[in-house]
Amino acid sequence: MTGASIAGPALAYWLVRYGFDVTLVERAPTIRTGGYAIDIRGTAIDVIDRMGILPAVRAEHVATRRVTFVNAQGRQVARVNLEDLALGGGDRHVELARGALTSKLFELIGSQVKHRFGDAIISLGDGPNGVDVGFRSGARERFDLVVSGEGLHSTTRALVFGPEVSFSRYLGYCFAVFALPNAYGLRREAVVYNKPGKAAALYSTSDGPTLYGLFAHRRPPLSPEEIDNPQRQRDSIARAFADDGWQVPGMIAAMQDAEDFYFDATMQIRMPAWSAGRVAVLGDAAFGPSFFTGQGTSMALVGAYMMAGSLATHAEPAVAFKTYEAATRPYVAANQRLVKDGSTMVAPGSSLALWARNSMIRLAPLFSRLGVLGPTRRAYEALVLPDFDSHHVS
Ligand SMILES: Cc1cc2nc3c(=O)[nH]c(=O)nc-3n(C[C@H](O)[C@H](O)[C@H](O)COP(=O)(O)OP(=O)(O)OC[C@H]3O[C@@H](n4cnc5c(N)ncnc54)[C@H](O)[C@@H]3O)c2cc1C
Repeated sequence: MTGASIAGPALAYWLVRYGFDVTLVERAPTIRTGGYAIDIRGTAIDVIDRMGILPAVRAEHVATRRVTFVNAQGRQVARVNLEDLALGGGDRHVELARGALTSKLFELIGSQVKHRFGDAIISLGDGPNGVDVGFRSGARERFDLVVSGEGLHSTTRALVFGPEVSFSRYLGYCFAVFALPNAYGLRREAVVYNKPGKAAALYSTSDGPTLYGLFAHRRPPLSPEEIDNPQRQRDSIARAFADDGWQVPGMIAAMQDAEDFYFDATMQIRMPAWSAGRVAVLGDAAFGPSFFTGQGTSMALVGAYMMAGSLATHAEPAVAFKTYEAATRPYVAANQRLVKDGSTMVAPGSSLALWARNSMIRLAPLFSRLGVLGPTRRAYEALVLPDFDSHHVS
């Protein structure tokens, strides 16, 4: 298993439970705890429950109280109390810091998996008896299966399935997330500043001294030089927001120094097949739904559960991967359909779209009561977990 964020450790947990020996490869020197709050919703709540960590995960729930939207002059144009939206609450949703979830998954797998931090796969030879893997460190090893949970820009996926461009669907925006001191008096709430095609947000996920800053803006796709180059990424954001007011200048200064800076394109990964022989992809690497859906983490958790269960019940890896894919694709497709090209609630592209978004926010509690959000909730729940524990072959 390669990639130790959400998909990787979740798959490792289930495979260990079914009796597999697992090696977890991560190119970073240790687990990465950055990123702001992520959501676990619908079917993914059941996965967390079956892993036995639902109470511990719930204890980390952020319970965002409200989101306030301000215009270019910093004046409030809309506000939504999340308790008024069934989407934001209920027992089918938990919101917690991404790093906290990764840490919990690691506590759970403990020493039951072998770790290979600071390393990455550079070659793969898939044969009838296993996959011969070459590592950047020079090590070579044979594995029965290789699964990449390396996120949107997976290089192991590229080795087997071809370049990222063949599968990626760019949605027109890039975003950056970073921590900064809470000098704004915010408590478990977000304030979002918009101009057409741009958003800057301050988001407090706790009563503590730190909050998160977010920038999102419309722009051409990432150039190859920008991928894995945080300074270029910082510079591109600073240029895009150089003329903005509100709290933006202070946020840009804080972003330049932030150690846990996270940046990416909003894009979906859509692959015609999620496996080839003994090699498969999982999580964002296979079916990243984009930051705009807020469903990447839930889909990685559900995918891990389904893949491991299928591997435990079918002796032939290729059959297991295909069976898993057939059972999981409808759920993935329903969630990927939650966003349309170029349209986003976060940073609408024109003045008219911004006005429409603000009007929708004002009416959101009413829409929620009328059931307009039903299709979204159905996508979150679009898979009923099978029970693999009693059927697995050992
Ligand atoms: C540091 C960080 C911060 C994030 N912050 C946010 C956020 O604020 N909001 C949001 O919506 N989503 C965020 N995400 C993405 C979110 O975690 C995913 O969308 C979702 O949880 C699916 O997870 P995943 O495990 O499939 O992929 P990811 O979370 O993207 O994890 C991929 C992992 O693979 C590792 N990796 C990459 N390439 C290789 C390689 N060649 N060899 C070995 N390891 C490799 C990466 O270091 C990473 O640990 C963040 C991801 C990371 C890594």
